[in-house]
Amino acid sequence: MAGHPVHITMVKKRLASGDACDKCVQAEQLLRGRGLWHRIDEVMWADERDPDSDGMRLSARYGVRLAPFFVVTNGAAEPSIYKSTLRLMRECMPGGSPRPPAPPSDGELAEAAATLANGTPQDALTWVLRRHGRDCALAFSGAEDVVLIDMAVRTGLDFSVLCLDTGRLHPETYAFVERVRKHYGVEIELMSPDASKLQVFVRKKGLFSFLEDGHKECCGIRKVEPLRRALSRYGAWVTGQRRDQSPATRAEVPILQEDDAFEGRGGGKLVKCNPLSAWTADQTWAYIRSHDVPYNALHEQGFRSIGCQPCTRPVHPGQHEREGRWWWEAETQKECGLHSGD
Ligand code: SF4
Repeated sequence: MAGHPVHITMVKKRLASGDACDKCVQAEQLLRGRGLWHRIDEVMWADERDPDSDGMRLSARYGVRLAPFFVVTNGAAEPSIYKSTLRLMRECMPGGSPRPPAPPSDGELAEAAATLANGTPQDALTWVLRRHGRDCALAFSGAEDVVLIDMAVRTGLDFSVLCLDTGRLHPETYAFVERVRKHYGVEIELMSPDASKLQVFVRKKGLFSFLEDGHKECCGIRKVEPLRRALSRYGAWVTGQRRDQSPATRAEVPILQEDDAFEGRGGGKLVKCNPLSAWTADQTWAYIRSHDVPYNALHEQGFRSIGCQPCTRPVHPGQHEREGRWWWEAETQKECGLHSGD
């Protein structure tokens, strides 16, 4: 849109029950969350019980049946009609949309967590993307994460994607990352370890120290520090964690929580969403097959949980997927530190 809009009218629907429609409420939350609510000059209600209400008359005039919608006048003869809140923000609120949303209060987060606990993964994902948009990063590495990218693309909402490039991944995994990037047309931010820290570590302890004194130090440098650096620019992140991935370490993973292991932008609150927490491996793979979701070619070779090449091996049928990771260590040690707050 050329120039600045002079007047934005939001048309909201009031249902026969007297309540506002859910989508209108969510659109208002989105605008408020991004600090853009003050850009709405006027709200008109399309009241289902009153065909003469202002909003109903605007709906009939512009032939719009959905709510909410926005009427934007900027001096041109005909107003512009926007049915997408995100498009309105992008095109009519220059300088406004990059402002990140304020973090949810403890009460808002607790209420959403209680509501979403019994919902679907899509419900949780939609909530966090509506609330945070691009300020929410989907952490991508394995099969579950591409399910989440697939679901996120289907919401039509904004989001970001990040991926930890430890420098020790299988060639198949790099090919997989590239395939996902092209398949969904998404930008994937690859996070690398800090070069100087890695250099010191490798010079001192070599390339396979994790076989002698455990994986924590290597994972700390190659995974945890780059993730910490990445998350310090976001207000929320989404993981593919499932409770059934590790009875020893992930049995209590909630669908939504405040991350107490990492900080968000400016050292502030970081929301962590685990939409697939209640799903099983079978449900994940059923989704992958039914939606033609790309997956890592290593799965065809017996690999189930895939991490770095030296620390991942295929498992036999009947073996738990976590047995293919850091097999020389105890079950309770098999986390790389990315989810240490759970
Ligand atoms: S999974 Fe293995 S190679 Fe990868 S960062 Fe951890 S210890 Fe290092």
